[in-house]
Amino acid sequence: MTIATIPPPSLHFSPIRAEVDLDALRHNVRVLRGYAGDAEVMAAVKADGYGHGAVPVVKALEAEGVRHFAVATVHEGIELREAGIEHPIYVLGAPLPDTLSAYVHHRLAVTISSVEIGDTVIAAASRTGPLTVHIKVDTGMRRLGLLPEEVPETLARLRAAPGISVEGIWTHFGTVDRTFTLEQLGRFDALVESLDNPPPVTHVANSGTLLHLPETSRGRTLVRLGGALFGLVADRLPGFEDTGIRPVMRLVSRVVHIRAVQPGDTVSYGRTWTAERETWIATVAAGYGDGLPRSLSNRGSVGIRGAMYPIVGRVCMDMLMVDLGPRNPSDSIRLGDDVVLFGPGGLSAMELADAAGTIAYELTCGLTKRVPRLYSGVETAG
Ligand SMILES: *Cc1c(COP(=O)(O)O)cnc(C)c1O
Repeated sequence: MTIATIPPPSLHFSPIRAEVDLDALRHNVRVLRGYAGDAEVMAAVKADGYGHGAVPVVKALEAEGVRHFAVATVHEGIELREAGIEHPIYVLGAPLPDTLSAYVHHRLAVTISSVEIGDTVIAAASRTGPLTVHIKVDTGMRRLGLLPEEVPETLARLRAAPGISVEGIWTHFGTVDRTFTLEQLGRFDALVESLDNPPPVTHVANSGTLLHLPETSRGRTLVRLGGALFGLVADRLPGFEDTGIRPVMRLVSRVVHIRAVQPGDTVSYGRTWTAERETWIATVAAGYGDGLPRSLSNRGSVGIRGAMYPIVGRVCMDMLMVDLGPRNPSDSIRLGDDVVLFGPGGLSAMELADAAGTIAYELTCGLTKRVPRLYSGVETAG
């Protein structure tokens, strides 16, 4: 393996690091294509590639033949353009009227998120120049989109307006529950079938839907995948373990202190954990300042030298403590040892997220800039 990106020297001294395995990312693309049939992958790389680093992730995905990228905001799209990414970029979030000229300038596809935004885009296009748009249909999530009955008129008006190319129509699922997903899909399909001349590009599935209900993507042009590319899903149903997708990120820090505590001693702020017997406590350089949720206080566990140890006491900004047990660990666990917070050698990101009462996406997105991302994998940047 070659290191694809070397972090600045100061970061070599960081106790904590997020290892990003670009080979696993590329493996996941190949697995997911097996689920997607003829639909092409649109990689959702918003929130800095779910915290993995959008630009190195996009370059690795391009090397695997991925040609469509999605972000949440114009600002994220511009960041990719400035890094030299030339493939189509879709902004999935709702546009703000004052950003439309940036869509034109950076060739970003616009989401028509409401009738009102449709009108704004129509009014702006004659001024700003050509805009490519995808119409978002709200089939049940009630977050963004036109109701199905609002689509025909807005579609006709967009088509009649100069400078607008209506390329796509799509919807988004709010659950992996089969019944509700099929209801949402039924509304979408009924709408598309009712249109005389529907937009040529369609996309409906996200990671959870593709893995658990792959038939929903048959006959669509694209699948919008974020989490699964990184080996994660928000809602895992039975069978997830058999999908073959692999974690891309491993979060590792180091033991910075080890001491014995006595029965009755309390550990960390607020004295929420009390030693019941003599035991050894390791202090790990990782806390909410790195993006670990404080809700991991007295929850979850970490991997050190192949064994798991529970987090005890409150998670602090820069440190957390784990209980190594009553045996003097000095010949097995030492100052400076690696501590796996999630990934191979510890809990999976999804298991740690369960312990924290959240989803793995929030863990990887939440890592702060104090955590250097270290990339491994076949050198891909061409
Ligand atoms: C983020 C996002 C996706 C990708 O979702 P995953 O569950 O990470 O695959 C798909 N569609 C939309 C609209 C999104 O915002």
